[in-house]
Amino acid sequence: MIGQTGRHYAVIGSGPSGMACASALLAAGANVTLIDSGRDLAPAHQARRAMLAELAPAEWSAADRAWLTRDLFQSGNKEPVKRLFCDGFMYEGAEWTLEGGKLSKGFGHRPTQALGGLSRVWGAALKRFLPQDLAMWPIPSGALDRHYTEVENLLSGSLQNASHEMALPLSPQAQKLLDRWRTRQAALTELGVKVSPARLAVSHRCRLCGMCLYGCPYEYIFSSDALVRNYRDHRAFEYRPGLRADRLEEHEGGGQVICVGDDGTRTTISANRVFVAAGVLGTPRLMLVSFGTWEDRLTLHDSQRFLLPFLTSTSSVRHAPLHTLTQIFLDLEGSAIGAENVHVQIYTYNDFYAARIRAALGPLGKLAGSLADIAGRHFILAQGFLHSRDSGTAQLRLSGPQAHPVLAITPELPARTRGVVRNIWSRLGQAGRLAGMLPLVPFAETADIGAGYHSGAVFPMTRTPLSWQSDALGRVRGLSRIHIVDSSVLPEIPGGPVTLTIMANAHRIAAETAALDRG
Ligand SMILES: Cc1cc2nc3c(=O)[nH]c(=O)nc-3n(C[C@H](O)[C@H](O)[C@H](O)COP(=O)(O)OP(=O)(O)OC[C@H]3O[C@@H](n4cnc5c(N)ncnc54)[C@H](O)[C@@H]3O)c2cc1C
Ligand code: SF4
Repeated sequence: MIGQTGRHYAVIGSGPSGMACASALLAAGANVTLIDSGRDLAPAHQARRAMLAELAPAEWSAADRAWLTRDLFQSGNKEPVKRLFCDGFMYEGAEWTLEGGKLSKGFGHRPTQALGGLSRVWGAALKRFLPQDLAMWPIPSGALDRHYTEVENLLSGSLQNASHEMALPLSPQAQKLLDRWRTRQAALTELGVKVSPARLAVSHRCRLCGMCLYGCPYEYIFSSDALVRNYRDHRAFEYRPGLRADRLEEHEGGGQVICVGDDGTRTTISANRVFVAAGVLGTPRLMLVSFGTWEDRLTLHDSQRFLLPFLTSTSSVRHAPLHTLTQIFLDLEGSAIGAENVHVQIYTYNDFYAARIRAALGPLGKLAGSLADIAGRHFILAQGFLHSRDSGTAQLRLSGPQAHPVLAITPELPARTRGVVRNIWSRLGQAGRLAGMLPLVPFAETADIGAGYHSGAVFPMTRTPLSWQSDALGRVRGLSRIHIVDSSVLPEIPGGPVTLTIMANAHRIAAETAALDRG
């Protein structure tokens, strides 16, 4: 490894935050070792994906389509668990993080040990935080702007996109809704609702094959494993998969990562600094173990997710050319609903709606097959996210034997959250009616805490950190060479897509720290 500065940094985790951090460190001329559990898609599944990517969607056989969409409900969960080509590798290894390897009741965030982290299955929705969302951050106003731009360039480069706008053609249903809403602008403004086409980290070469929720055979949806592949030939970059960071130590002039390999062997990696991006649960576990703290409880803040289905008169044609990620963003002003701002994503036709209706009907589902298909084509789903101030939390503490500590997780849902969500359903229902949609409130749901995968703020960045808080460079009080760069250090979680901001902040921490070391 031969970076220009001669400094060597370790980064833990290859998810979006780890890769944004690694990219800034490499740009600063440092040597980077990426430590990653690195589980990946089974080779047979990878080979079949590659074979499908050689063909146009119209050339895929019925068996190919069935392979892509199979087993969606196999998990037996309240709602389907998103996997990649029906491979659940991104959720393997939970026994390292969770008590009994299982989620606690009422908690829905699955930890990952995957190459690329949860970006292997994410929805690719992008949004910059608004200035008011950054008000509590211990950084000067505008300090994140440059890093947002750098990260957007990173995403565009990885997707070979010509523009930064990342807008895809809307589905016919979404276009109709947007047109109707645009003619009712004044009424929308009165409701405190802003409507815009969704912004997505998806290549402009998208083939509109409608398979997005099962996995993109063409790899046109950004996932940070692509950045790992891009950097593999970089002479200052070393990728160490199959290593799980188990404990961190800090000493004068550097930090050490004590890792456990897949075969149980221990390896120690030393570096001038360590950047931790092990995700919503991986990072708190690593910090509690490294501080040897069994008594303390940490608070995980969630941006609670809710779902509200609608029926619309506009139907979609099965296998029409469209993508099945979010199509439209709705932003609800908090003051209009007695809460903080709320972000809502509108999904139009998706073949899994009919499958879900059939599953919900149980044995009757088989009989009502074509009816479910027809209903599915008139179905629109709104998925929303509350601000963390209006959402539930989860208490995290260490549990299990000293040799193998895991997290015990206790979710807590404040009574007020349900009231806030009911207000939003009502406001959203009014907005939906303006576009000719009928809200199906009896089928609306509030998801388990963490199930929306927008959580963190366990070690919030502040100007004067107290115990378990961090400074503007992600250093928990008492540490100077170990930096947390994922959502764990966000001061709070506004409603809406978080990953672009997590990446921008990771990029900022890495760039500013490297500059500090250059003197
Ligand atoms: C179904 C789904 C849809 C989503 N949709 C969106 C969306 O549309 N927009 C949006 O903004 N966000 C979305 N998200 C959230 C988004 O995926 C996360 O915000 C993002 O992945 C967080 O990135 P991260 O790098 O901080 O952590 P993670 O993605 O969790 O990555 C953690 C990394 O750390 C590694 N790791 C963990 N523990 C260790 C260890 N001990 N040692 C070594 N390596 C370790 C893992 O292998 C992994 O590479 C979605 C998430 C899911 C699951
Ligand atoms: S529609 Fe989705 S799955 Fe198909 S090419 Fe576009 S991004 Fe990929």
